[in-house]
Amino acid sequence: MPGYELFGEEEKKEVNDVLETGIYMRYGFDGPRKGIWKAKELEQEICDRLDVKYAQLTSSGTAALTTAFAALGVGAGDEVIMPTFTFVASFESVVSVGATPVLVDVDDTLTLDPKAVRAAITPKTKVVMPVHMCGSMAELDELKAICDEHKLILLEDACQAFAGQYKGRALGTIGDAGTFSFDFVKTITCAEGGAVITNNEDVYLKSDAYSDHGHDHLGVDRGADLHPFIGYNYRISELHAAVGLAQIRKIDTFLAILRNNKEVMKNALAEVPGVTFRRIPDPAGDTATHLSFFLPTEEKARNANAAIKAAGLPSFYWYDNNWHYIRNWAHFKNSQTLTPYAKELQTALDVYTTKEFPASDAVMSRCISTPINLAWSAEETIERAAKLVAAVQSVL
Ligand SMILES: *Cc1c(COP(=O)(O)O)cnc(C)c1O
Repeated sequence: MPGYELFGEEEKKEVNDVLETGIYMRYGFDGPRKGIWKAKELEQEICDRLDVKYAQLTSSGTAALTTAFAALGVGAGDEVIMPTFTFVASFESVVSVGATPVLVDVDDTLTLDPKAVRAAITPKTKVVMPVHMCGSMAELDELKAICDEHKLILLEDACQAFAGQYKGRALGTIGDAGTFSFDFVKTITCAEGGAVITNNEDVYLKSDAYSDHGHDHLGVDRGADLHPFIGYNYRISELHAAVGLAQIRKIDTFLAILRNNKEVMKNALAEVPGVTFRRIPDPAGDTATHLSFFLPTEEKARNANAAIKAAGLPSFYWYDNNWHYIRNWAHFKNSQTLTPYAKELQTALDVYTTKEFPASDAVMSRCISTPINLAWSAEETIERAAKLVAAVQSVL
């Protein structure tokens, strides 16, 4: 699945450039850094690769989401519609700006069900946040139409889908803003890092300042910068950006390998009666980091998950997963925080102590994902496909 599988001389070279100057910070030190600006360079390469005007790197994908919310003016009292199947960072970032996460069902795309989104809109709704899970995308035409109709912000959490596309446009560039994670297991990695991308100059300028203590970056030096508003420190370091720079230059190779390996696995599994696949709104834009499929029942999915693991292959049964599906988010449902939420937010969140999501359960309880790797040889991929088929067949 991830870029860390193909680390090499390219990453070492980029990191060494930074080690040689000894300037690990992305801002300032203009003289001693000898023209080495890895974070700036990576931002430019992200813009070029994705055909988007602005990119702001951050220290993580979670920081990118938080920064995006702040830059989009999302805060106390605002509702953010997000899916039940995602990573916990989605609701963490919403509550971190004081806004209210509104969880709604996913459908067989494993992303936001547009009908469920419509049903969840209230006068407080400000943002719809689809999450392009497991390398593939949400139904962006429908979601964009809903946002246009109701004058809502569309924020794409594309953390798991860097360089994926929807109808020829990069994921993350279709909404008002998009976010990526470059943590260690994502499609390309900085070790730790993230980015906000947007075509909106105002959102970019706010992201740029917010992620660096509010610095407007207009002074002759850092000390002379003004602080138009309060920010935080969500900066990426030059060392991390250097790793990402080597990685982004390999993204087309990564995508070609992933797509080829996924096709071999999928074609093999498609021969098994009873197996159906995740619906992908634009198959050509899939980054192919996972193969996600459905078994006819929850019991068969559980058994298949166990059989795949017993065959020595990785398998994710999200329904039982602690980090990606609402069923096991007791800490979220019971508001287990270290410090109290603001009253209004707490009242809004109380509904989750009892709220059920039968439509999401019906999808997720039958779903299995198996990750696709970069390092598999052609023979190994065929061998894995055969093992996957045998394991799934054994439970049907
Ligand atoms: C990884 C991830 C994040 C957060 O990224 P970090 O860099 O790990 O903070 C947010 N959303 C989704 C969907 C993710 O997979």
